[in-house]
Amino acid sequence: MSTDIPLPSHTWPTLERGWVWLCGAGPGDPGLLTLHAVNALRQADVVIYDALVQEQILSWAPLAEHIYAGKRGGKPSAKQRDISLRLVDLARAGKRVLRLKGGDPFVFGRGGEEAQTLVQHNIPIRIIPGISAGIGGLAYAGIPVTHRDVNQSVTFVTGHDQSGNTPSSLDWASISKGSQVIVIYMGMKHIAQIAEQLITAGRSLHEPVAVVTTATTEDQQVLETTLGTIVEDIAAAALAPPAIICIGQSVLMRQVLDWQGMAAGNAPRNLDPLGRGRPAESA
Ligand code: SAH
Repeated sequence: MSTDIPLPSHTWPTLERGWVWLCGAGPGDPGLLTLHAVNALRQADVVIYDALVQEQILSWAPLAEHIYAGKRGGKPSAKQRDISLRLVDLARAGKRVLRLKGGDPFVFGRGGEEAQTLVQHNIPIRIIPGISAGIGGLAYAGIPVTHRDVNQSVTFVTGHDQSGNTPSSLDWASISKGSQVIVIYMGMKHIAQIAEQLITAGRSLHEPVAVVTTATTEDQQVLETTLGTIVEDIAAAALAPPAIICIGQSVLMRQVLDWQGMAAGNAPRNLDPLGRGRPAESA
């Protein structure tokens, strides 16, 4: 795509000097950006981006200064403050600032904190949502995050809190009981502990689990495993973050919905993985 191809006709907002737009870049595949994100990239003077934002996306803002604000989990929160204040400084210097974050800026992305700091400093903002890895990343693996035959709710969980530990505020027993499908962000480091807590709380050792790493990129890997075997299987496959971990029966749907595998010529493994014995379209 080049910047001289016009966006579809629409009243696209103008990124004014002194403004900061907080924008989601989606999970990886540049095609998962929103049109608002593309519109922002074309106007920004400066793009401050995170570790998980793909290079190709930055190339769509060829005239902007690109500033890396990478920050991986568990680092001291002082740095977050630096990033927020840098945004304030850039806006005050009259720049058109695009803060580009992986996935959705308001989903485990500290976007809420950055936006709050900006407002506290009287900087005008716009929020551009993005496709979150916990939804879009699973879709690329052929896993629907909800399915009528599986779940009426889904719980999104972070695998570690600001201290870098498993979030002590999380009541794993309640999550285990109340949520048929659990989607874990930043879960790799503490997966042994998380799996153990869920099993202790009553989830089956045989419960299906998927681990999707670098979802939606060319390096995407998908591991299908179970709660009882996840730790050794992750080690055996040498999987590394970033990863989304999905726990629940919806993982089985990959047997019929692995669309990337099917595009590569693989037959679906099972046309009725939930064993409903009836066509999916019947009520
Ligand atoms: N705001 C982001 C999440 C940021 S937290 C969003 O909405 O997606 C960072 C975590 O997101 C990673 O540790 C990983 O759990 C998940 N993540 C982000 N991009 C991912 C990708 N392409 N593949 C797998 N997991 C991803």
